[in-house]
Amino acid sequence: MAKRDYYEILGVGRNAAADEIKKAYRQMAIKFHPDKNPGNKEAEDKFKEAAEAYEVLSDTEKKARYDRFGHQGMGGASGGHGAGMNMDDIFSQFGDVFGDGNPFESFFGGSGGRRGSGGKRQRVGTNLRVKVKLTLEEIAKGVEKKLKVNKQVACTTCGGNGAKDKSSFKTCGTCGGAGQVRKVTNTFLGQMATTATCPACNGEGNVITNSCGGCRGTGRMEGEEVITVNIPAGVADGMQLSMSGKGNAPERGGIPGDLIILIEEIEDPILKRDGNNIIYDLYMNFADAALGTQVEIQTVSGKVKLKIDAGTQPGKILRLRGKGLPELNSGYTGDQLIQVNVWTPKKLSSDEKAMLEKLRTSENFMPKPEKGDQGFFDRMKEFFT
Ligand SMILES: [Zn+2]
Ligand SMILES: [Zn+2]
Repeated sequence: MAKRDYYEILGVGRNAAADEIKKAYRQMAIKFHPDKNPGNKEAEDKFKEAAEAYEVLSDTEKKARYDRFGHQGMGGASGGHGAGMNMDDIFSQFGDVFGDGNPFESFFGGSGGRRGSGGKRQRVGTNLRVKVKLTLEEIAKGVEKKLKVNKQVACTTCGGNGAKDKSSFKTCGTCGGAGQVRKVTNTFLGQMATTATCPACNGEGNVITNSCGGCRGTGRMEGEEVITVNIPAGVADGMQLSMSGKGNAPERGGIPGDLIILIEEIEDPILKRDGNNIIYDLYMNFADAALGTQVEIQTVSGKVKLKIDAGTQPGKILRLRGKGLPELNSGYTGDQLIQVNVWTPKKLSSDEKAMLEKLRTSENFMPKPEKGDQGFFDRMKEFFT
């Protein structure tokens, strides 16, 4: 498949300044981040495509080469740049792109620092996904959950390095321990040198001569961990939280993957969520609506008493300020909205019927328009909202 133009991918003009390119990439990275689009191959491709474009356009030298020669100038099919980028490379870029304000660090899970010092590759374990079901009460206050997670942990015999003992390690002969090898490719522009991960040691710089018996050299085993998760107030169904380093251990040491926590909201039989607001249906009889009363209302933070004024119309919406759900990472809290429903009796005794017959003709029972009263219906409507 033909490669798309890097500027087109990031949606910037050919004269875009470095800051503009960075900003455009940041938006793409957030939008198509795999943690936000689990299992979405298209998003993953877009994510990689954007990272590749940024890798070239953020580098003055590579950008100049691309501007002159296009994709041909980037080393052709052997793809010394970009084309070979994997997720680890992309994540290691994030420190530069997002700086201290890396949004994935705080909420979608940080993934920086995947490459160890000296350019040696570090293995990264796979991410682990768990679901957490929360009630509206828990969402209102935030909650600490202890999750028992089955996962790959470091081997207890060798500590995760996969070797029988210290003397089982040998410096890799192919790369001399550097973890990287230089590769020279011939292109129509001449020879181009690129560095690549050493194929003999997988970039680790050493090889193992005697494997650990406990894990057959893999450095890991099936295990279990109880993880305490602090879920902030205001989360919503479908949101994901990420705890870096709490996922599966990689083979033979390195950095464990992330634990991705998927939030599931347990539907409340009475309280209905509408963003940060809570909708509540209040049912009362006709006499209470006419005479006024006091009712007890359930909220996400316990029961509250509410005065119902005499003459409250059905359809009226009463507001309990600040009794809704907090907004994530902000000081704002929603309201509870109470919809008044008035019950019309369906069965009546003869006594009750007689009482109502008397009331039926009473002047106060239903206002009537005076002659020439143009605003009557508009005024009536206002009582009900
Ligand atoms: Zn072991
Ligand atoms: Zn090597």
